[in-house]
Amino acid sequence: MRKSKKLSILTLITLFLVSMTPDRAEAKHYEFLNQIRFPVDHIKAHFYDDWKEKRGNGNRLHLGLDVRAPKGSKIVAIADGEVNTVSYNPLSGYYIAIDHKNGWMSLYVHLDDDVIGNDNAGGKSAAFAKDFKKGDFVRQGEVIGFVGNSGNAEGTVPHLHFEIQYLGTSQDIYEYVLQSWKNYQKGKLFPKNTMTLLIY
Ligand SMILES: [Zn+2]
Repeated sequence: MRKSKKLSILTLITLFLVSMTPDRAEAKHYEFLNQIRFPVDHIKAHFYDDWKEKRGNGNRLHLGLDVRAPKGSKIVAIADGEVNTVSYNPLSGYYIAIDHKNGWMSLYVHLDDDVIGNDNAGGKSAAFAKDFKKGDFVRQGEVIGFVGNSGNAEGTVPHLHFEIQYLGTSQDIYEYVLQSWKNYQKGKLFPKNTMTLLIY
């Protein structure tokens, strides 16, 4: 009897602590974040922890992670999922959102809209890897689009504004993306079959 009471108090405390951290998803869902793939396929990609950095003269907080990479670098799906939105607006430029189920959504923003010699003339075909439609299935690692600076990123260095939302709320994902980046680098430096040759 006493034991179950103790247990329920512990449960209440846990629930309280979870409710105190709105930017963090419940622990049981960290599994998804631990398995994501780095969203840009380019060894010269770089980023730092810019979560909630002040932007726009301090008027807004940055809710996402900017990954800088050469213009036209491949953007890949971080996990299996279904295309939720493929669109354009003046702020985001060309963007795509992928639904990974169980509340998780990844967003890829400011995709490329340029063609060499004619800024902004690339349109949709420069931004996306193919003519994606809502409901299309995408595999983890599949190329979905290309790094650029469309929307309000025009004039900044080409970068992917990357976001992972849980139940519609952007999450602080820096640590998870950093881990996926380390895995990506490892894969580039030690591709399958050569690993044994390189380690003495
Ligand atoms: Zn951004």
